[in-house]
Amino acid sequence: MSLLDELREPLGSTGLLEGGDVPDGGYRFGRPLAIARPKTTSEVSAILRLCHAARQPVVAWGGKTGLVAGANATGAIALSLERMNRIEEIDADAATMMVEAGCILSNVCDTAEAAGLFFPLDLGARGSATIGGNISTNAGGNRVIRYGMMRDLVLGLEAVLADGTILSSLNHLVKNNAGYDLKQLFIGSEGTLGVVTRAVLRLRPKPKSQQVALLAVASFAQLPRLLRSLEAGLAGTLSAFEVMWHDFYELVTTPPAQGKKPLPAGYPYYVLVEALGGDQAEDDARFERVLGAELESGTVADATIAKSRSECNRIWALRDDVLQVGRNAPIFTFDVSLGIGEMDAYIADVAGALRSRWPKMTMMVFGHLGDGNLHVIPGVGDGSLAARRAVEEIVYGALRERGGSVSAEHGIGLEKREYLDFSRNPTEVALMRSLKRALDPAGILNPGKIFAP
Ligand code: ZN
Repeated sequence: MSLLDELREPLGSTGLLEGGDVPDGGYRFGRPLAIARPKTTSEVSAILRLCHAARQPVVAWGGKTGLVAGANATGAIALSLERMNRIEEIDADAATMMVEAGCILSNVCDTAEAAGLFFPLDLGARGSATIGGNISTNAGGNRVIRYGMMRDLVLGLEAVLADGTILSSLNHLVKNNAGYDLKQLFIGSEGTLGVVTRAVLRLRPKPKSQQVALLAVASFAQLPRLLRSLEAGLAGTLSAFEVMWHDFYELVTTPPAQGKKPLPAGYPYYVLVEALGGDQAEDDARFERVLGAELESGTVADATIAKSRSECNRIWALRDDVLQVGRNAPIFTFDVSLGIGEMDAYIADVAGALRSRWPKMTMMVFGHLGDGNLHVIPGVGDGSLAARRAVEEIVYGALRERGGSVSAEHGIGLEKREYLDFSRNPTEVALMRSLKRALDPAGILNPGKIFAP
C-alpha cells in the first residue's frame, strides 16, 4: 500500500487533497505531494507516524501568512491545521483560554473580548494567521513593548513529535519551574521540532481606555528619549511605539493609498503612540499632559491626539497599510532587530550603500521601534536573485557589525538560512542542530528550514 493510500485511512476522502486539488504555491508554499487536513490530534499523530515510517517530509501549515517561505512544502505532505480551529475552553477567573492550533488569531481576540478579557497579540495578518503559526514563529507585532511576544502569551501546549508521539504539556499555571520548560522547544522553532496542535493562552484584563496619538519628531536622537520618557510618564500604559520614516508616511498618505495626513509632511519621523489603560477620563488627562510636556520641551515637533475610536483607527490604518510598499515593486522585505542607539547610523549606512550602487533606489523604513525591530523595504528596480543577494549582503552585513538580528519576528524559514550565522555563533547553531537531531532524527519535520539539512 502506498503512503497516500495509508494516509487516506485515518483522514477519509475529504481529509486528504491530492492531484489536481493541490495547487502549485510558488516559492512561498511550493507544490506539496498532498495536503492532509486532520480534524483531531490523534489524526495528526497517525499522519506523522506513517510519514516517519516512510521517511516522508511533512510541513505544517497554519494561515500561510509567513514572510520567509517557512511553509514551502515542495515534495512534502502539507499538514494543514485549518480544520482544528475550535476554542475549547475559556476560564475567566484564571484568565486562560485553550484553543486548537488552527484557530484564527482574530477569533481568539474576539472571544477573549466577549468574555471581558484580552489576548494582546496584534499583527497585520490577524484575520488569517493561526495560533499554531503564531506559536511556531513566535510572532511579535504591534504590542510587544507592553505584553511581550507569543512566547510570553503561551502557558502550555500540546505537540505531536516527529514519530507521532503526542506530547501533552497543557500547563495552565503562570509559575511552573518543575524541570525544563518543554513548550519553549516548539515556540519559534518553525515546525522543525514538532507540530503544535493545541495551546493554553494567557489572557489579560480587557483595557477600558485607549489613547492614540501621532507625533512628528525632528531628529532620530529624540526618539529614544521620547520612548523612555513616555514609558515612565504614562505609568505603564504605553502599548505601542511605532515609528514611520518620512518616505513611508508619504507613501501611505498619498493616492492611491486611502490615508490622509493627520500631520503635515516634512518631518523626518512620525511616531504612533498608543496607551491602553483602565479609566478613560483619567488616562486621557494623563496622555494629554505627558504629550503636552513633550511638545513644550521640544522633543516632539508636532502632535495630534485621536479624539474618537474612529480617529484612533485612522491613525493605526496608516501604520497598517504596509501593502502600499508594493508600489515600489520589485522590492525586498527585511525584518531586523538592533539596539535603538545603533539604528540611525545603521539605516544611513544601508541607504548609502544601496544608493551608491542603485542611485534610483527607494527604501521604506517603519516598525516597532520600541522593541528595536525595524522593517526595511528597499526597491532597487531589479527583482532578480542576484540583486536580492547583493541587497542582503548590504542589509545584513551592516547588521552583523552591530550585533543585530537578521530576524526580529518573521523567523528564518528558507529565506534567511544563509544568514543565520550573522546573528548566532557556531556553538549556538551546533546546539540547535543537536536539538533537531534529538527530536527529529529522520529529519522529516519542515526539512531545510532554519538551516540546510
Ligand atoms: Zn512587524
